[in-house]
Amino acid sequence: MATALVAGEFTSEELVQAHLDRIEVIDPLVHGYLHVDAEGALAAARAVDADRAADEPLPPMAGVPVAVKDVACTAGIPTTAGSAMLEGWVPPYDATVVARLREARMPILGKTNMDEFAMGSSTEHSAYGPTHNPWDLTRTPGGSGGGSAAVVAAYLAPWAIGSDTGGSIRQPAALTGTVGAKPTYGGVSRYGIIALASSLDQIGPCTRTVTDAALLHAVIGGHDPMDSTSIEGPVPPVVGAASTRDLTGTRVGVVRQLSGDGFQPGVRARFDEAVQCLRDLGADVREVSCPHFEVAMAAYYLILPSEASSNLARYDAMRYGSRQGPEGIAAPSAEQVMGASRDAGFGDEVKRRIILGTYALSSGYYDAYYGQAQKVRTLIAQDFAGAFEEVDVLVSPTAPTTAFGLGENEEDPVAMYLNDIATIPANLAGVPGLSVPVGQADEDGLPVGLQVLAPATQDDRMYAVSAAVEAALTQAWGGPLLDRAPALNQREELT
Ligand code: GLN
Repeated sequence: MATALVAGEFTSEELVQAHLDRIEVIDPLVHGYLHVDAEGALAAARAVDADRAADEPLPPMAGVPVAVKDVACTAGIPTTAGSAMLEGWVPPYDATVVARLREARMPILGKTNMDEFAMGSSTEHSAYGPTHNPWDLTRTPGGSGGGSAAVVAAYLAPWAIGSDTGGSIRQPAALTGTVGAKPTYGGVSRYGIIALASSLDQIGPCTRTVTDAALLHAVIGGHDPMDSTSIEGPVPPVVGAASTRDLTGTRVGVVRQLSGDGFQPGVRARFDEAVQCLRDLGADVREVSCPHFEVAMAAYYLILPSEASSNLARYDAMRYGSRQGPEGIAAPSAEQVMGASRDAGFGDEVKRRIILGTYALSSGYYDAYYGQAQKVRTLIAQDFAGAFEEVDVLVSPTAPTTAFGLGENEEDPVAMYLNDIATIPANLAGVPGLSVPVGQADEDGLPVGLQVLAPATQDDRMYAVSAAVEAALTQAWGGPLLDRAPALNQREELT
């Protein structure tokens, strides 16, 4: 699209309008957007077109639109994080990632649906209703960033921004046949991102190809003085790595703990083929052991709620957000207003985690739960360090199953948590991870993702390995996997 804009094949206004037209027809079925900013996107597009007509210098992606997960603050555009607590809130400032998109002159199409405060793996916990998977509208697109993945899969945006605290970019990518990358912790600024668990949260690209992911990563990444955890040193560039086609000499480790039981047969089968594909491309593949990955989920569900309970304390109905007066009390105290507002403003999953986190941090339990979980976190980081002495990247299936039905796991929190069994270790250790489509499961025809993990700051390695696999598989399939999405293709006739 960027190339076609430079060549004058179409204008940015036409490109944005084409997306808006398609959103109008398809998004009522997918519900990937919480808010579409048609006017803002068209105005940004026209400004790019005018500068191009006047031969003004423009950044490489100028005029290519983008969608943004509703977890990022956008000045002038409503931002809710999928919560009733923030309904109608319009941030007075841009998150750094959003500011960088605007500097890159990329029109922002709108804000995408998500599980409330990014807690979930299906986008069913959104206060505004679920997103539907473009492959099969009766199924979830994964979560929490199901909106970003679905709008990209359904061609309702060329690409999108996501956030990944335990898998919310990678797992939806796997379930929608798209690419999703979680950069190294600190690689992309978190300034202006509505915090879930600050030591785990990371922003990254949701795209249709590995090259697109690297291009978008390059636009949003890099040091930001507004984020105290932002990496300062130079990191290897990612865009060049995405043109890798030969993996001769690359050492790839298959994580033993993430390739055994508990994965759907069709997921296992496509994963095994992807590993064979890596060998065919010249990689030296071996098995490596990361024994503490088995307790990663347990540690995560103590660390995440602990940090979330602290981060979400800011929604006190006093400074901003929805305020509810308790019924039948004439002059309620601040505490009563807070209680009533939180009761009405937060969904069940958010309440569950606030209670769990508050409990885990309370005196007398702190050492037994939070302290213990932090020790496990260190052991997981050591597992990664040991593995990366033996190999350059690690691989696993991204998610244990393909897209599940809407409502299937909604009532059982632990079943929902298990979706992130393979993605959580990377967040605990701060290392980068990417999911790339590797085919469809035989039992349901739904997409399967391969996860590629690399050492911290070596994000280029995950782009190189996944790009080589993507190129080989796309050639074998005779075209991109997304072309086979039945629900999506059916709707194509309508546009
Ligand atoms: N599904 C995980 C959770 O519910 C991950 C969420 C995320 O990455 N934001 O915590």
